[in-house]
Amino acid sequence: MTRISGVSVSPSPIQGNGVFANQAFRRGGVLLHLDDSRVVDSEHPLRPEAGELEYHRDFLPDGTVVLMQMPERSINHSCDPNCYVYSVKRERFLLAKRDITAGEEILMDYALNAIDGDVWECRCNSENCLGVHKCDFFCLPLELQLENLPYLDPWFARVHAARIRLFLRSAHMRP
Ligand SMILES: [Zn+2]
Repeated sequence: MTRISGVSVSPSPIQGNGVFANQAFRRGGVLLHLDDSRVVDSEHPLRPEAGELEYHRDFLPDGTVVLMQMPERSINHSCDPNCYVYSVKRERFLLAKRDITAGEEILMDYALNAIDGDVWECRCNSENCLGVHKCDFFCLPLELQLENLPYLDPWFARVHAARIRLFLRSAHMRP
């Protein structure tokens, strides 16, 4: 698999280790080709002795569970992210949501492309931080769901098309 290596892992002011840009990226540029090759299932369970922990898992829209690899495993959440995931035929890429300068921390919104995830207290320090929130796109305030529609992974949007159609209709009918 081709990996793009314009990023590196180092301690983050948000939490633990984070991923940082080694170079500038233009809005829409590709930062990473995510490695989803390690599937976690009953035949290939997590190996805690090898540092494979539950919160290192990622849930793909078709129900497949994968073990996030480095460096994507270290990407922190922000309520004001600069990156988002975009799939092409089930290959996932990390794209820049806006121009990113060298040295900036790479941040994603964990609530995008997620349903029924954990509730957690966010300390991302962004101006629009939601504080305590649930890792579920459909639990975001309606305004944020609408704002984030262009940044949903097309794969997630396809799988959840019925729910998205429903909230678009309710948004349309608001006074
Ligand atoms: Zn936050």
